Amino acid sequence: MRGRWPKQDMLLHPRRRRRRGRPWLTALLVLLAVGALVYMVVGGEEEPDEQALAHGLAFAEAYMRVNSAVALSQATLTSGEAEAILAEKAEEAALSASFTEGQAAVIAGEIKPNQSVFVSLQARNVSAGAIHEVVTATEKEFDFRRSRPGDQWRVETDESGKIVEFRYQTSPEDIWVTTLQDDGTYVAVKQEVPIETRHEAVAGSIASSFWLALEATGESGALAHRFMEIFQYTIDFNTETRAGDHFAMIFEKVYLEGEFLRYGRVIGAKYMGERGTYWAFYDEERGEEPGYYDEEGESLQRQFLRSPLPFTRVTSRYGRRVHPVLGGTRMHRGVDYGAPIGTPVQAVADGTVVFAGRAGGYGNLIKIRHSGGFETRFAHLNNFARGIRAGVRVTRGQLVAKSGNTGRSTGPHLHYEMLQNGRHIDPLSVDTARGEPLKGESLASFKSEIVVPWRAKLTEALREAAPRALAQREAASGPDEQLDTIQSEP
Ligand SMILES: [Zn+2]
Repeated sequence: MRGRWPKQDMLLHPRRRRRRGRPWLTALLVLLAVGALVYMVVGGEEEPDEQALAHGLAFAEAYMRVNSAVALSQATLTSGEAEAILAEKAEEAALSASFTEGQAAVIAGEIKPNQSVFVSLQARNVSAGAIHEVVTATEKEFDFRRSRPGDQWRVETDESGKIVEFRYQTSPEDIWVTTLQDDGTYVAVKQEVPIETRHEAVAGSIASSFWLALEATGESGALAHRFMEIFQYTIDFNTETRAGDHFAMIFEKVYLEGEFLRYGRVIGAKYMGERGTYWAFYDEERGEEPGYYDEEGESLQRQFLRSPLPFTRVTSRYGRRVHPVLGGTRMHRGVDYGAPIGTPVQAVADGTVVFAGRAGGYGNLIKIRHSGGFETRFAHLNNFARGIRAGVRVTRGQLVAKSGNTGRSTGPHLHYEMLQNGRHIDPLSVDTARGEPLKGESLASFKSEIVVPWRAKLTEALREAAPRALAQREAASGPDEQLDTIQSEP
């Protein structure tokens, strides 16, 4: 792949390529090189000419630059190394070059804030006509309205200032090349970039925070962020992670010519906490849109159930209305559902009960806090489900109470409120259509093709990373891992 654009691109950032050297090696190499020079200058039989001297100096400099790459035993640079150094120098020169009439040139640059590609090239003396031609041709493949500061460009001109080749890149993967054809026109193509995607796994145990535990595996915070995003409606990473919790994740890592470029998708993830074990599997074929599902095909994107009651009829909507008891117009800050006393009320999302008790006009009231700054409230309840009290964790769909007619109420109904960051919102305005669960055939194939293989890999990763802790947990909490042997048929 030598000489292809991605390699050259790397040379636009010479620092990225340079490896950290060992000082003693540098010192030794410099000594060797200087020795060679001294020999050439004073010890040689012939007077060295200027060119040879310059050559010697270049070599001394070259030694320093590649100090860690050149083996001690080697007396000379290999041609490949010399070529790389020359190319690097050429690219450095290009970054500061300007077009001069009568000279062919290679000019490279970067788009600065509030700068168009046109202005960026013009600042380096490329003629407006030449830029216009090449930009117009490139625009057939790349929309320059999408260009951003930091984008890189590179032009080669002939002696007359005509552009022979123009390259524009927005990332190491996204490069457009526009070349002058024999007939004098330009043709733009998007460059094929040899990227490689590998599946990798990490797993570990939490000592203080999930973030730190993930970084301890050698991966970056960007990956921790992905993981937290996937489970954002399931786990509150601020308050619900504990020392001794475990996690595992299988994800894509994208490489360009063997060097790490970026993270791809997270394919599977597992979190084992105090409250239980949570899974996430990526699927792009079965649902309405690509996304994450738990092991039962429930969408992880879906935070809220449509309604806290199984069969419901909205009798009063959110908004301004004449109050049925107090009279006068006032804001109705919730939704009323007509429901006979004793109708089961379910939590609309995973969360923690923050209040369950008597509250004036509300009668029996439950307040549940959810991730994302949400809170739901159910009022006029007849009674609470067993075990429901402040501090208790509830899951989406869990029965928390039975509806009633307590407090300031005109008849049996459930009054349902939703707050976001402390402000009332209309519960019916929250997008609950997103992320429908998988069902039937889709669910069956999801389980056999996605859940079974990836679950096994996640469990394996965890066994390798934290074998002792995991074994203890299995012994204590029972056969969580037996899920690996679930039936793949419906
Ligand atoms: Zn109401």
